[in-house]
Amino acid sequence: MRDVRMKGFAERADVEEVAAFLREQVRVLPAEEVALLECVGRVLAADERAEVDVPGFARSAMDGYALRGEETFGASAYNPIAFEVVGETLPGSPYAGEIQPGAAIRIMTGAPIPDGADAVVMAEVCSEVAGRVEVSEAVAPRKNVGAVGEDIRRDDIALRAGRRLRPQDAGLLASIGVARPACVRRPRVKLLVTGDELLPAGSRPAGVHIVDSNSVMLRALVARDGGVDLPFEILPDRPERIREALKFADADVVLVSGGSSVGAEDHAPRLVAELGRLDFHGISMRPSSPAGVGRIDGRFVFLLPGNPVSCLCAYEFFAGPTVRALGGRSRRWPHRQVRLPLARKISSAVGRTDYVRVAVEGGSVVPIATSGASILSSTVRADGVVIVSREHEGMPAGAEVEVLLYDDESVDEGSP
Ligand code: AMP
Ligand code: MG
Repeated sequence: MRDVRMKGFAERADVEEVAAFLREQVRVLPAEEVALLECVGRVLAADERAEVDVPGFARSAMDGYALRGEETFGASAYNPIAFEVVGETLPGSPYAGEIQPGAAIRIMTGAPIPDGADAVVMAEVCSEVAGRVEVSEAVAPRKNVGAVGEDIRRDDIALRAGRRLRPQDAGLLASIGVARPACVRRPRVKLLVTGDELLPAGSRPAGVHIVDSNSVMLRALVARDGGVDLPFEILPDRPERIREALKFADADVVLVSGGSSVGAEDHAPRLVAELGRLDFHGISMRPSSPAGVGRIDGRFVFLLPGNPVSCLCAYEFFAGPTVRALGGRSRRWPHRQVRLPLARKISSAVGRTDYVRVAVEGGSVVPIATSGASILSSTVRADGVVIVSREHEGMPAGAEVEVLLYDDESVDEGSP
């Protein structure tokens, strides 16, 4: 491996090339059993086939009277038909006997339909007096009866592998008797933050020291993407310390913030190459061109430039999709997209991919002027980003562009 320190990149890879490499290399992690209350948001690792019918018994869909439907034929308000009330059935406590002709059973919603009955007349059209009920509306057999398996049938696939579980999915799994669904294991992400100038988040910047903001942002991004955020460390720019930390085996993904470039103190690229492979270093993009991607013993290592906007951008392009894909989620940008016209042109260069922070104002897209990679507040003022791909020299004012919105709700299409 050529030592690029203080020499610069001889050549840079395309964003698409790096993305394609990652798409090829990443395998979905194996499954683990997860408690029902924790499975929401997780990805189902295998089809869940129902081993039971739900409901497993015919049940009443109404409060009323269970009887033989055909015995009510002809009943009306003017011509009610009377039945003898021989008992009652409640959810969870079935009626022991069988309903004989001329008899009815008081029944509540969810209670099992007793033998001999095949329909339920709702209470509103009945009047019960002294052990007899007068029914003033006819019901066909099976009326107001929930059939066996009407919700889920035994042997049906209740939920498919790859499904990101919703609250109601977890409820459904409970209803078919599943206690611990098999979910894709969450990727374990180790964050190494390098820089002699850094103070831990929560401190006040002082003198020539700045506060490490990247770890705060990255840990939130990892959580968003379904990763498990392992205890992180702030490391000095000392190769032996970074080497030790890179060897940490208990991770699926290692994120290194800072020290990824070609400066004298940028040790991470050389160390990744030494301990494993540095597949890419230097990418044709702005910001984050000094980003890198490598692997150490099956762990994916992302070298994220320390400049906060670069760090965000490199995470979003490369690390984020990898974390999501390892966990069985979609690689796609996790942002809502809107198509809106550009208020001002965006300049770029052919051969380079740009991550342009934009505001949405009055239904059009305004590129944010202060766009240096160190200006984190540019991403705070932005409503989202426009990606200018390498084949474009830029985009003229008026062109319709896709905006990836940072927030789901903050921008309504067409309004400020
Ligand atoms: P580096 O990539 O280490 O050369 O850092 C580039 C710039 O980003 C420098 O101005 C650093 O001080 C700054 N920087 C590095 N790490 C962080 C961090 N964790 N949080 C905020 N700024 C950082
Ligand atoms: Mg540094």
